[in-house]
Amino acid sequence: MRRVLPVAALAVGVLLPLVPATPEFWITLLNYIGLSSLVVMGLVVVTGVGGMTSFGQAAFCGFGAYTTAVLTTTYGLSPWLSLPAALALTGVAAWGLGLLTVRLSGHYLPLGTMAWAISLFYLFGNLDELGRHDGISGIPPLSVAGIALYEGRAVYYVIWTVVLLAAVATFHLLDSRVGRAIRALRGGVTAAEAFGVDTGRAKLIAFVYAALLAAVSGWLFAHVQRAVNPTPFGLNASIEYLFMAVVGGAGHVWGAVLGAGLVTVLKDQLQAVLPRLFGGSGNYEAIVFGALLVVLLQYARDGLWPLVTRFLPERAPEPAKPGAEDLPRRAFPVPGKTLLDIDALQKNFGGLVAVRDVGFSVRAGEIIGLIGPNGAGKSTTFNLVTGVLRPSAGEVRLLGERIGGLPSRAIARRGVARTFQHVKLLPTMSVLDNVMLGAHLRGRAGVAQAVLRLDRVEEERLRWEATRQLERCGLGDSLHRPAGTLALGQSRIVEIARALCLDPMLLLLDEPAAGLRHAEKRALGDLLRRLRDEGTTILLVEHDMDFVMGLVDRLVVMEFGVKIAEGLPAEIRGNPAVLEAYLGGIE
Ligand code: ADP
Ligand code: MG
Repeated sequence: MRRVLPVAALAVGVLLPLVPATPEFWITLLNYIGLSSLVVMGLVVVTGVGGMTSFGQAAFCGFGAYTTAVLTTTYGLSPWLSLPAALALTGVAAWGLGLLTVRLSGHYLPLGTMAWAISLFYLFGNLDELGRHDGISGIPPLSVAGIALYEGRAVYYVIWTVVLLAAVATFHLLDSRVGRAIRALRGGVTAAEAFGVDTGRAKLIAFVYAALLAAVSGWLFAHVQRAVNPTPFGLNASIEYLFMAVVGGAGHVWGAVLGAGLVTVLKDQLQAVLPRLFGGSGNYEAIVFGALLVVLLQYARDGLWPLVTRFLPERAPEPAKPGAEDLPRRAFPVPGKTLLDIDALQKNFGGLVAVRDVGFSVRAGEIIGLIGPNGAGKSTTFNLVTGVLRPSAGEVRLLGERIGGLPSRAIARRGVARTFQHVKLLPTMSVLDNVMLGAHLRGRAGVAQAVLRLDRVEEERLRWEATRQLERCGLGDSLHRPAGTLALGQSRIVEIARALCLDPMLLLLDEPAAGLRHAEKRALGDLLRRLRDEGTTILLVEHDMDFVMGLVDRLVVMEFGVKIAEGLPAEIRGNPAVLEAYLGGIE
């Protein structure tokens, strides 16, 4: 039964313009919905998935529209030949603006997009070459096979074919290695960078992709309308696109079409009804939209698309194929060799010295425990080793090479993986997808391969790797659950599986056993011993002394940022300084 709806929608979509009784006005409305859907689909990628609110999409439509307007009127180029030029110009502009914008944090990012959206609007309206506020008219229509498409009914098929192609490309992009990197942006840059994602680049990719979809929309618009002026490319239009994204559901590709459809129809109705209600003329619909936006954000943050999916066939998650080839593994250092060497490490936060003159080393094949009371500086030490923080002084060396102060992703590339004391998973993403992010550096497929679906063999191998790591961590039956539905202890284990996907020679675990039950702790201990036996070196922070004492080869004890002891578990147990500082409170 659920299969009927998509097929019926497609059939109606194909047949509607062929029926002579279909009012011309409907066709016009549907064409506008298609054009808006393209822009909003870009917003789904950049805002809904990537978490960057952009008020600039209409300006990118303007780039597409004006480029083709100038090239086809002044230079007599055919519309189809001006499309690559429109894409190239918009792509370059978006790249440049993106470089300036995506590094802004918090509210500065949307404000940044707003700033250049307004500038571009005035640019369009003030350049003589672009016809100033009157714009450019006399733009030729699109033609297919030598036939000019003057009729709305004809151009309808072009618009909606482009919408379908864009939807397919967007689905492919989001379901890929690059797509996971873009989705990971939502969880903050720290976790993504820890697995080798260049988050600045991932943001730029999302940004440029969205701009290109807007440019295609603008290009189509120019040839449908056969005239352009600055009005449709201003800030108002950008806000309307954002509204469509929110109404439809900013995280869903088809939500873009739904949102564009609902808002376009609603706007049309309101423009007819409201002036009659209130008298006079005015953009009353803006007030209604504003009120609706508030209601939606309160009650349906995810937009209306999730209501529709109830009536659609469920897509079974792709199972991993055990036949996939194993990923190549890195060479591990010989056991006993000094792997990590921390020397006189220091970190100041303003006046607070969180880590002071700490030094110890870890040999390949060891499990080292880092213990100490809360606030001792253990997590800060982890952050210094993994590049989340830059040392204020001192040095961190991995196999003799200085890594202190390198960016996280450079350290990850060298084979260092970690978990976080405060779990950093994407709650709405499946456990499997979360863990696949850990294998980011073991794949190479880029945007083009993703969109064209040439990345399947590699994706299969990454999925297989993630599945195996989850199975060995005992989570083989939770692959397709959203990560947010797991208990805290379980999500820590998911983080371990994600770290293992990096094929780490050094694994840093920040309180991995917190929140686990007794039997689960024992399973974790067994897993860590097995990993050590396979050659992985482990540095872990843990508060459960029974767990630590039975597991580690050596212990390093910190208090108030200083290392106060180091030795075998038995030695530490009897060390008076440790008893005083660390266990004193417990006794
Ligand atoms: P532990 O993990 O041993 O409990 P932390 O390394 O998290 O301790 O913290 C050590 C000290 O550094 C604490 O006093 C903490 O408040 C402080 N600290 C940690 N991170 C920051 C930060 N980003 N900014 C300021 N102070 C911090
Ligand atoms: Mg800590």
